[in-house]
Amino acid sequence: MEHTFCPTIDLIIGPMGSGKTTELLRRIELYAVARKNVVLIKPRLDTRMGVHIGTHGFQTATAIVLEKLSDACHNHVIEACDVVGIDEGQFFPDLASGSEELAQSGKKVIIAGLSGTSERNGFSPIMEIIAKCDSITMLTAVCVICGRAASFTAHQGTMKGTVKIGDIGEYMPMCRYCFMERYERQKAEKEMLAAPDHLHESSDHLYKSPDHLRESPDHLYKSPEEMLAASDRLHESRDAEEEAANLALDAFILEGMKTDS
Ligand SMILES: [Zn+2]
Repeated sequence: MEHTFCPTIDLIIGPMGSGKTTELLRRIELYAVARKNVVLIKPRLDTRMGVHIGTHGFQTATAIVLEKLSDACHNHVIEACDVVGIDEGQFFPDLASGSEELAQSGKKVIIAGLSGTSERNGFSPIMEIIAKCDSITMLTAVCVICGRAASFTAHQGTMKGTVKIGDIGEYMPMCRYCFMERYERQKAEKEMLAAPDHLHESSDHLYKSPDHLRESPDHLYKSPEEMLAASDRLHESRDAEEEAANLALDAFILEGMKTDS
C-alpha cells in the first residue's frame, strides 16, 4: 500500500532552558523508530558543539550545519529524508521561506527556537514562521529566582544583547513576576545613574551666579562716588549756612555797636 506522509511545519518555542532541543530530539526519535529518514539542521551562527546539537540534559545528536536554510534544498542528505529537525531556528534569517520549501517538497519540518529575546522582543524569523506553521508548542522553563514556571529569558548582565549565542551561564529563565521586578529595578538604577548629569547641569547654573554677583559690586562701587558727591554738596550747603550765620552775627554786632554809641 502506498503510504502518504503528511508534510507539516511544527514549531516548538520557549525560553532558554525550557527543553526545546530535548523535545525536538524526542520527536525526531519517534520518526526514526517509525523507520522514517530523519535529519537535523543547525545554524552556522551557533558555534557551540561543532556539528552536534546538545541539550542541557547532556543528550547529543549529529546535525548538518547550514548558513541559510535555503541551502537545505540543495543538500542530498536532506533531500533524501522524510523529517527535518531544525534547532535554534531563530538564527536562520530565511526560516519561513526555507521551511515552506522543505514542506512543499513533502517533508515534515520540526523547528525549535527561542520565543523572544532577553528584552522580550520577537525574533523576526520566529515571528514570520508563526503565520506559516501548522502547530505551535510553547514550553516553559523553571524560574532561577523563585522556581515558578518561566516564560522569559533574562540576560545575566545588562538588558542589552539581543541576538547573542549564549548558554544557561549567560542567560537565565525567569517567570513574569521576577522578570518584571528585575526590569523595574534595572530601570530605577539606570535613572539613578543618569541623575548626576542633571545635578551637574544645575551646578553649572550655580557657577554662573558669581558673575552676576561680580557685576553687582560694580554697582556698589559706583555709589561711594555718588556718596562723595553728595557729601561735597552737603559741605557746600554747610559752608553757605555758616557764611550766612557769620554775616548775620556781624550785622547783629554792628547794630549793637550803633545802638551803644
Ligand atoms: Zn520567578
